[in-house]
Amino acid sequence: MKKEHPLLSARKLKTTRQREIILNELRKSDWHPTADEMYEMVKRRLPRISLGTVYRNLDALSGCGMINKLEIGGARMRFDGKPETHYHLVCTSCGRIHDLPADSVPAVRKALARARIGDFQITASRVELLGLCRGCRGRKRHRAPRAMKGSR
Ligand SMILES: [Zn+2]
Ligand SMILES: [Zn+2]
Repeated sequence: MKKEHPLLSARKLKTTRQREIILNELRKSDWHPTADEMYEMVKRRLPRISLGTVYRNLDALSGCGMINKLEIGGARMRFDGKPETHYHLVCTSCGRIHDLPADSVPAVRKALARARIGDFQITASRVELLGLCRGCRGRKRHRAPRAMKGSR
């Protein structure tokens, strides 16, 4: 990240600090929060911040490529602060998106790196795997009556 010039206005510094905190909170989370969820997280650090400010900062950060917007399955926009190549595990029940390091599925990574698709040159890839997260699987198991056992 570029160092800010010390003579910047106080307003700019405040924006920068807010942006830094938003970016840090996003990078700490591994489940790709929505803007509303980001707001709840950031509010703990900056109690007076508004939802609009969080939106604007997320927009600015994704505009300069520091974070990614995820639009998966028509769900609400989620944000991704991870800069390195990784894939996504999408829970079809709660909608949360977990990261899957590309190195944990080397076969997929290699296949994509080697793929040649006509004239099209692949520069990046997004892989989404759908399923149920641990939390949702636990809830489903709890609710399922015993008689259901074995019927899938
Ligand atoms: Zn889930
Ligand atoms: Zn991610």
